[in-house]
Amino acid sequence: MPKSAKLSGIKSLRCYTISEAAGVTGVSDRTIRAWIKQGLTAMTDERPTLVRGDALISYIQRQRQGRRSRLSPDEFYCLKCREARKPAGGLVDCEKDGTRAKLTAMCETCDTIMHRPIAQERVAALNDVFDLTLRGEASETPKAGS
Ligand SMILES: [Zn+2]
Repeated sequence: MPKSAKLSGIKSLRCYTISEAAGVTGVSDRTIRAWIKQGLTAMTDERPTLVRGDALISYIQRQRQGRRSRLSPDEFYCLKCREARKPAGGLVDCEKDGTRAKLTAMCETCDTIMHRPIAQERVAALNDVFDLTLRGEASETPKAGS
């Protein structure tokens, strides 16, 4: 089970060696090295490699925010690019599905079809952001119970 990193002991103006950074955050040296490869800012020209406390803090905070919340309201997650992408031409199809709506668009970078589920009540707001085409309007009739 991966240990979650601790923020509380990190001093933002201090520089940490990899093992000091590992000690203060409670993860392994290997994890710190992996973070550096994945974009944690470090002074790799130094011997030993040093990581600034504030870089460590912001990296862990960004990690906690997670992938989901990185999408802006006008972005989709493209599975091919593996990044948040805007719809080509701002064109988005919106298909109603019960209380949810399914957005479909094409990645502006690689033309891959991207999907994004949203809550029905947010569709109106998206009309300002995208060139939205609504589909499934006819299925408004409530389903018969039991
Ligand atoms: Zn793409």
